[in-house]
Amino acid sequence: MGTERIYNFSAGPSMLPLEVLERAAAEITNYQGSGMSVMEMSHRSKTFDRIFQETKEKFARLMGVPEGYRVLFLQGGASSQFSMIPLNLISATGKADYAVTGNFSNIAYKEAKKYGEIHVAASSAEENHTYIPTQDQLDLSADASYFYYCANNTIYGTEWQYVPETGSVPLVCDMSSDIMSRPVDVSKYGIIFAGAQKNLAPAGLTLVIIREDLAGKELPYTPLMMNYKTMIDKDSMYNTPPCWCIYMLGLMLDWVEENGGVAGMEKLKKTRAGMLYETLDQSRLFTCAAKPGSRSDMNVTFRSATPELDAKFVAEATAQGLGSLKGHRSVGGMRASIYNAMPVEGVEKLCDFIRKFDAAN
Ligand SMILES: *Cc1c(COP(=O)(O)O)cnc(C)c1O
Repeated sequence: MGTERIYNFSAGPSMLPLEVLERAAAEITNYQGSGMSVMEMSHRSKTFDRIFQETKEKFARLMGVPEGYRVLFLQGGASSQFSMIPLNLISATGKADYAVTGNFSNIAYKEAKKYGEIHVAASSAEENHTYIPTQDQLDLSADASYFYYCANNTIYGTEWQYVPETGSVPLVCDMSSDIMSRPVDVSKYGIIFAGAQKNLAPAGLTLVIIREDLAGKELPYTPLMMNYKTMIDKDSMYNTPPCWCIYMLGLMLDWVEENGGVAGMEKLKKTRAGMLYETLDQSRLFTCAAKPGSRSDMNVTFRSATPELDAKFVAEATAQGLGSLKGHRSVGGMRASIYNAMPVEGVEKLCDFIRKFDAAN
């Protein structure tokens, strides 16, 4: 094992900024004179309550969460939201619209079918999820309880470049892999949710922003812990929340603020993705999986001429300290996940390596 930190292109859990890890390390055995680690303190203690409230306020401020919405810190991963959303929202009309643009929206769609009549408003499956449907391609139902989509398809490397217009039908969005990488008008959404482990924190924390009036209409058999109302009424503290992850999120949000806030994250993201796509487009050997206009700024999927050459690329990159570039098994090739914490220098190094590999093979 090396002693140097690598540039880690893992899709999730993924890199955190070194400054954030160092701050956590400095406080790990004795948090601000409390005599204990955040990992060791009661979630009902004054010290933790301050961490919790401040982190929630920072998150709401950075996301621009308006009046009438609540921020929840939940568990169960983004995947638990696939059940929680229909359980809590489908009762409005018994129906919902889903856009199936990748692996996770397909799982969400299949899960929702257990609870109501689900209409596929768009699917990119026939082209192996290489594109995002346009607004005109969305087959919307006026009587849907909600419209569901996944903003960034982590595995296929596509990202919605617009917010769907659905009239009065609430938008529900999985932002697990692009949350806080660009400004979002929260007021356009009914629910935004994200597993925190890609762009914002260690695994174990699920972020939910919910328009408060959508809660409280859950199906009668909704499990207690999957009821948004339970968590709203108890401010995410019905049971023990993921204390350490919430603390780490707070440190990460400080880092986001120090780096220009969400606008700063968007600028960095555009720099990283722009550089990487340009390098790939100019190469002789590499092609991108996602169609132009649908390309993700977070997960860049690409391949060379053969699986053997892809394997060689990944092995040589790893030896250069460029880690976790192997693509997901359902797409193959390579995937560079370049979330908030990925330094621009990491992408510069990857681009240099791509150019060298392109010339040598
Ligand atoms: C990773 C991911 C998920 C699954 O998240 P878990 O927290 O592991 O349940 C869901 N949706 C998207 C878009 C993801 O990237």
